[in-house]
Amino acid sequence: MKNKTNYEYLLSDLNSLKGVGIKTQNLLKKKNINNLFDLLWKLPKSYTDRSLSSKIKDLKIGENQTVTIVPQKYNFPRIRKLPNRVLCRDETGEIDCVFFNSYEGYIKKILPLGKEITLSGKIGHFRNKYQLTNPKYVSEDSTLIKKVHNKYSLTEGISEKIYNKIINQIISNLPNLNEWHSSYILNKFGHITWNQAIKELHRPENIGKYKDNFYQRLAFDEIFSTFLVNSEIRKKIRKAKKKSKSINIKNQNSIIDKLEFKLTKDQNKALHEINTDLNSTNKMFRLLQGDVGSGKTIVSLIAALNTINSGFQVAFMAPTEILARQHYNLAKKIFSETKKIKIISGKSEYKEKKEILKNLENNKVDIIFGTHAIFQKKVLFNKLGLIIIDEQHKFGVNQRKKLSDKGGPDCDVLLMTATPIPRTLTMTIYGDMDISIIREKPKNRKPIKTYSKLESKIDDILKFISKEINLGNQIFWVCPLIEESKKLDHSSAIKKFEFLKKKYPNQVGLLHGKTDIEEKEKILNDFLNRKFQILVSTTIIEVGIDFPNANVIIIENANKFGLSQLHQLRGRVGRGNKDSTCILMLKNNLSENAKKRINILKKTNDGFIVSEEDMKIRGFGDVLGFKQSGIKNFKLADPIHNSDLFLIAEKEMRRIEDSKENIAKFKPLIKLYDRADIINDIA
Ligand code: ADP
Ligand code: MG
Repeated sequence: MKNKTNYEYLLSDLNSLKGVGIKTQNLLKKKNINNLFDLLWKLPKSYTDRSLSSKIKDLKIGENQTVTIVPQKYNFPRIRKLPNRVLCRDETGEIDCVFFNSYEGYIKKILPLGKEITLSGKIGHFRNKYQLTNPKYVSEDSTLIKKVHNKYSLTEGISEKIYNKIINQIISNLPNLNEWHSSYILNKFGHITWNQAIKELHRPENIGKYKDNFYQRLAFDEIFSTFLVNSEIRKKIRKAKKKSKSINIKNQNSIIDKLEFKLTKDQNKALHEINTDLNSTNKMFRLLQGDVGSGKTIVSLIAALNTINSGFQVAFMAPTEILARQHYNLAKKIFSETKKIKIISGKSEYKEKKEILKNLENNKVDIIFGTHAIFQKKVLFNKLGLIIIDEQHKFGVNQRKKLSDKGGPDCDVLLMTATPIPRTLTMTIYGDMDISIIREKPKNRKPIKTYSKLESKIDDILKFISKEINLGNQIFWVCPLIEESKKLDHSSAIKKFEFLKKKYPNQVGLLHGKTDIEEKEKILNDFLNRKFQILVSTTIIEVGIDFPNANVIIIENANKFGLSQLHQLRGRVGRGNKDSTCILMLKNNLSENAKKRINILKKTNDGFIVSEEDMKIRGFGDVLGFKQSGIKNFKLADPIHNSDLFLIAEKEMRRIEDSKENIAKFKPLIKLYDRADIINDIA
């Protein structure tokens, strides 16, 4: 192992293990265990203590016991079906070792007559005699048997014996790593070193001791390395120099003054943070986080306007065409007529598209709206100064990093998400960005009242919506999510549409994934202009759409949706100043988890609380769809149980950033733990 630093031993390939064949290596690789470090997280699930031995007369039937005996006599019947037997004895009694399907040669080898042999296994009883069937723990060397044997959740084809062997091998060769933490941090974990902690982690009697120093320290290491990596990315992005954008506050205010409402304190604060970034010579990479309906769009559009006014172009990406169109329309409404505002959609005519692309390249378009289509290779900008991405909480760290490179030398990036996440996860998931948070909702908002109602009580619901319609209000009716097939989603929406149309002629519209884009737009526009009162749809209305006049949402089969998704759907209403209602329609027999979800929604309108609860119910990996984003689960750390560690790690991270401490000492930590494998050269 020439030129290898300490920690590199742990990153070496599985073939550096002694006595581990290629077959075992391949089985491990299939489980994503690629180096020795990965193996360290293969933890014993339970153990069997074989260290105490009994005399034969004291053996307890049905229990795992260890006993030292002397084989006396072989009994190898010539009849196929009968097992081979070996009569064994100690000074207190007799026991039979029984072998099904095994070779005489093998039996003679492991149980030689007259030798003292130690055996361990589950003691049985047959015809008044103790017996041990197919014993696996057999040896002349009693020390190999009389000990604690770890049990692992086995990878197919790899035995417990092999696991014990390889993990013991790694642990006895653990390199001595220099401590990376400050003594302030170490103090919280009783100054246990990484090595000691790993050793403790693998001691079978420590299974489940999550609160002990060794466990806490290792969990902390894991969290902290994630934060460090994120912080490094953030620093790298910020280091990139760009031309500053000069913000013209007068121009900005002329737009703000024309709005029908006053910006909230949080909106102003976010706008100020964004403006400061635009104005600086460091690239912006900022996330604007705010619950559904908190008013992120207007903030981003003002930032866009400021960018345009300082001579740059803006690209505004939305996850769906409907939403892109909505933002486009809003920009047309609030920007002055001199601004050149365009949208690229899937349905744009070829000629029109070509024209837009040409104008983008010639700086004859100020702002372009669209879906991810606006990031295709053939879309070239003349002077792109800001990329805005709406509703992109599912972007992973890697994708985001690419984005900031893509925009060109003077391009800032603003991402927006309506998915609040638990406080403890902010640094884990968004630590590579600067964050502005809009917590406070516009003043005119009233909390959405949330009720649940059994499906069988649909008549009550119909009565309620008749009343709302008479008041001039509008209603979303979301049809069940049918997991097996999108087709069924459509047909259930169509059925409900037919059903409601009979009761409310000319007052119902229908929208589903198969509705084509032009029709979709017409329907949404008609709904917005109150040409009909009830919009029946599948979940496609989930993201971002803004209909201030709609104040009731009915969600069928609400138990099928996740908590965050229900919260998002509910956020379609309650955007104006009316009383709004969300009715969760339910089937009779709900699972415990479904009941929990429904109750949380009834209790709170606060997206941050919803996200905390969602995480508690579903666990970190599943929460908010982050699984798809390439953010892997932690090995030990748990955002629910270790929330304190996350907060300590964040504080320590800030301290290091502020004091500009050299992070070279963390190199082994990062190299070992960097789950996203983003940082290649550090320090
Ligand atoms: P989201 O943050 O979910 O994207 P939107 O930007 O779509 O929310 O805003 C939701 C609604 O709130 C819109 O109709 C918008 O015009 C309105 N709105 C935004 N800011 C304010 C405010 N300060 N006061 C009142 N209404 C506002
Ligand atoms: Mg939005």
